[in-house]
Amino acid sequence: MFRIPEGKSLKARRTGDASNGSGIFLTFDDGPDPIWTPRVLEALRLADATATFFVIAPLAVRFPRLISELRSAGHAIGLHCARHVRHTDMTRQEVEADVGSSLRNLERLGITPRLWRPPWGILAPWTAAVAEDFGLTLVPWTADTHDWRGDNAQTMLEVISPTLGPDAIVLMHDGLGPGARRVGCEETVRLAGPLVERARSLGCEPAAMNADTVTALPAPKAAS
Ligand SMILES: [Zn+2]
Repeated sequence: MFRIPEGKSLKARRTGDASNGSGIFLTFDDGPDPIWTPRVLEALRLADATATFFVIAPLAVRFPRLISELRSAGHAIGLHCARHVRHTDMTRQEVEADVGSSLRNLERLGITPRLWRPPWGILAPWTAAVAEDFGLTLVPWTADTHDWRGDNAQTMLEVISPTLGPDAIVLMHDGLGPGARRVGCEETVRLAGPLVERARSLGCEPAAMNADTVTALPAPKAAS
């Protein structure tokens, strides 16, 4: 897992209008999904908020219209993976091939991701070097909703609220990845609006990430 040293600020630079106060970054992994991504998009539209989606490249190829919708709504698109496998269970060469094919496929859709969140956020000792080789910035999270477990939206909001604040990066899912203990992303859809409201009550405006947003992040530590 990415481990953020305790007490160490992320110092993420925000991308929104400086007059709006601090930024907060909502992120969604494991999509695009033909059922859940549109519902998450609608929830974000109603909340007038933008977010960042770390996509699974073969799904992006399969559902290019969803990628267009993400882009036209002002959301950022980062890379998750092609195969959803822990880097610690792959060779460096396998991961390089995975990233290379993903970037080529996304390029055909007109996307050149600069942000990367590998499966489960698990890094091998060489993941950071691979990221650098491909010009990708690794993106951790600081607030985990654990939405894949199937908790309800109210519970998730209460659990993560203490970790919300300026430059927080909130992890959610708009698709059902391997290991998901739920049958759909309904509670993530239900969480989006109240989460945006809670963030704003803390003076934080949700913003889509770009590579500059995370250049000041502490280097994620590799899994041992
Ligand atoms: Zn994932």
